[in-house]
Amino acid sequence: IQAEGAREVAVLGATGSIGTSALDVIARHPGRLRAGVLAAGRNVEALLDLCRRHQPRHAVVAEPSAFPALRDGLRDAGVSTQAHCGDDALQALVAGDACDTVVAAIVGAAGLPSTLAAARAGKRLLLANKESLVLAGELLTTAAREGGAQVVPIDSEHNAIFQCLPDAHARAGLRRIFLTASGGPFRGRGRGQLAAVTPAQAVAHPKWSMGPKISVDSATLMNKGLEVIEAHHLFGLPGDSIGVLVHPQSLVHSLVEFVDGSTLAQLGLPDMRTALAVGLGWPQRIESGVGGLDLLEHGTLEFEPPDLEAFPCLRLAYDALAAGGTAPAMLNAANEVAVSSFLQGRIGFLSIPALVEDTLAALPVAAADSLQALLAADAQARRHAEHAISQGGAPMARQQ
Ligand code: NAD
Ligand code: MG
Repeated sequence: IQAEGAREVAVLGATGSIGTSALDVIARHPGRLRAGVLAAGRNVEALLDLCRRHQPRHAVVAEPSAFPALRDGLRDAGVSTQAHCGDDALQALVAGDACDTVVAAIVGAAGLPSTLAAARAGKRLLLANKESLVLAGELLTTAAREGGAQVVPIDSEHNAIFQCLPDAHARAGLRRIFLTASGGPFRGRGRGQLAAVTPAQAVAHPKWSMGPKISVDSATLMNKGLEVIEAHHLFGLPGDSIGVLVHPQSLVHSLVEFVDGSTLAQLGLPDMRTALAVGLGWPQRIESGVGGLDLLEHGTLEFEPPDLEAFPCLRLAYDALAAGGTAPAMLNAANEVAVSSFLQGRIGFLSIPALVEDTLAALPVAAADSLQALLAADAQARRHAEHAISQGGAPMARQQ
């Protein structure tokens, strides 16, 4: 039963790590929040299970071949949820009356159309899908501004900065920001010790439990590179005002520094439900299920510089941001291809930065003045990276 005035939330990527955490927070506030739309890629069993539990009005699978199983499963379960499939249906639901709040937590560039639809339609946009900002940051932030969407970043670092800088007033006198990074599972290793690491080792993150793609990105430090570009778009700062600090305890989620010498930081246990609760309740604070931080129990907070020699992806991302235009879109696309090939066991760990670097060196940078130009650059970079992998060509040979 829907309470009066409950926020209707669309959870995109509902079956994933962020989606599941969002639904956990939503279920704690039956009077205030309601899961109205759930969307997933192809995992129908998991989506059906969520529909039984959360009784959304609509459920969407991306993959058309998965639609009959969703429709029949909902009918057999006696759930009144309407089944849909495909990107057009998802965009229409996101833009329409079925929701006022959208948790954008699809992984990769595949999340761009629905994220953009939420921005254009002026929804409260809880943005976890960082790849859409890297691919089309200017278009997306312009769409949100013109559509009147309030964007709350869900990436823990950007959510921390959002909490320190909630509005333009708070941003006056800002000098720079620092994103913290756990360093990933291979922190402290040199290049030579990275060549033979396996996908299973790469996804075993020491602090955060996350989907496979972002876990590999954390292991290469590309995740932090994508986050530098994300921060540039969210907070309007140039690359040289965005620093990165490796902080293995993952308790300080990011910091902002002002011209008067003040530094503000947000701290908390590493659990994405805190950031999601900030977005779902904002400007109010609501229960997330995450306990408070006991600093006496943790005792020590350490900080060190990132090792760009062993983890060149972070440098490649700064370079792509400085190059501008379609360079970040190509960086993201080549990385998505490389990570997926690494997870399939087709390439080694060190081939991930090599492929990204090779792609950026090989392809011309164009102006990022239209969605069409960005999607063309994305497609071209994917083709280039896939071709290099299938040829076992120069970047692969150099690394293995
Ligand atoms: P995940 O792999 O656990 O989940 C991905 C979700 O996206 C799944 O529900 C999957 O079904 C869905 N999906 C995949 N392809 C799709 C498609 N083409 N159309 C519709 N749905 C599709 O990933 P995750 O860890 O939850 O990450 C999701 C996003 O949030 C990523 O962009 C990631 O960078 C970002 N993020 C995640 C975390 C985290 O703690 N997991 C933290 C910060 C940011
Ligand atoms: Mg993050």
